[in-house]
Amino acid sequence: MLTCKSQDVWSEFLKFIEQRISKTEYKNWFAHIKVIETQDDGLTLEMPNIFVQEYILDNYKKDMLLFLPTTQDGDLAINFVIQEKKKKKIRSPILPNAVYEKDEAKFNTHYTFENFIEGPSNQFVKSAALGVAQRPGKSFNPLFIHGGVGLGKTHLLHAIGHFVKKHHRRFTIKSITTEAFINDLVSNLRNKSVDKMKRFYRNLNVLIVDDIQFLQNRLNFEEEFCNTFESLIHQNKQVIIASDNPPSHLKLSPRLIARMEWGLVAHLAVPDLETRVAILKQKASSINLNLSDDVAFYIAERIFNNIRQLEGAINRLAAYSRLIKADLTKDLVRNLLQEMLSFTPQKRISVENILKSVAALFEIKVSEIKGESRLQKIAKARQVAMYLAKELIKDSLQKIASSFGGKTHSTLLHGWKKISNEIKTNSTLLRQIEIIKKNIEA
Ligand code: ADP
Ligand code: MG
Repeated sequence: MLTCKSQDVWSEFLKFIEQRISKTEYKNWFAHIKVIETQDDGLTLEMPNIFVQEYILDNYKKDMLLFLPTTQDGDLAINFVIQEKKKKKIRSPILPNAVYEKDEAKFNTHYTFENFIEGPSNQFVKSAALGVAQRPGKSFNPLFIHGGVGLGKTHLLHAIGHFVKKHHRRFTIKSITTEAFINDLVSNLRNKSVDKMKRFYRNLNVLIVDDIQFLQNRLNFEEEFCNTFESLIHQNKQVIIASDNPPSHLKLSPRLIARMEWGLVAHLAVPDLETRVAILKQKASSINLNLSDDVAFYIAERIFNNIRQLEGAINRLAAYSRLIKADLTKDLVRNLLQEMLSFTPQKRISVENILKSVAALFEIKVSEIKGESRLQKIAKARQVAMYLAKELIKDSLQKIASSFGGKTHSTLLHGWKKISNEIKTNSTLLRQIEIIKKNIEA
């Protein structure tokens, strides 16, 4: 039987510690410890596992010494026993901090592959993401997704998470933002528990890291991240990374950049009008909002570079139509979304505009640019037009390239690269390009 006294010291200690640490920490480290026996001069605690024992001794020993029985030489008079496992299954250890809680619940339930609308701007990235989810560690590794704000990067990362969870049940998967990774590392450094953290990360099957751009200018963290990353890749564990920019544009060490380019780097572009309309319609129908094609086009023509804003528009319309049961007409929508739509619709620059402007400056014909001639002047004009088209038109490369008399997207990319490099040193060419741009925009 336990004496009141020994139960008391333990609960006193718990009360004390509960006030000093977060709920999650308390739950992780103390909630599952049981006092199973008491001796005159000490007590026996049952620990859920060895990690908890190590962790609390590493981190709370001083506090424990204040409350709990001690031996003559001043050490804790505690006998630790490890709880016997009921299941044979090896559970991943309970590890420090919120970060090590089971992660599955954190995937946004709406961010699935099924809810992801495809179009030329994102088809490639989506199929790469799906490929990775179907065969983690066996297709592209790492998969690096980059693109502007609100274009679906996080959505795809979570979709991979859901898929892996469902189809590879035994896989351990961790999804983390770069900021959370850094915070985690800091608190583990403080708690001297970095080894545990490392062990945790390096034992994952799938690691998903969002917003890697926040690792820029964080030298120490970068190194730790890079090590974790390499260790996973070497074991064929899947790594998926998202960022606002491609690896080569990030201010990170050449080593990490090279690693991130090992697998597949995929770009998520701004969706074209039809895709934006499809997204609007899907969001509307998911909340039972009646949205005519006409109105969907009206909105999609005016909100064009951020899907989150499209969602904001739908939510606002939904809130309104719940209050006032009226059909959503264009006029009504214009009034309701005034601020959101306050800018004039984007003036759409077409490949034809660019071709005309380039042809004028180089004094050649549009048909020559679209043709196959390799005459230097014509070839240069063609590359300049390709460069401008890729820079100025938010459409898939394939689609743009096809407007160049049916060229392939690799030809387009080649032209773009050539000019991108050349304007770094050739100021005449740069000036010519500025003039062409002005002519297009005028
Ligand atoms: P990012 O991480 O690139 O900033 P998010 O993944 O957070 O963007 O996407 C912003 C919002 O747009 C999310 O609510 C997401 O579900 C939605 N979204 C993005 N792309 C699509 C798509 N192709 N189909 C449907 N919804 C999308
Ligand atoms: Mg995001």
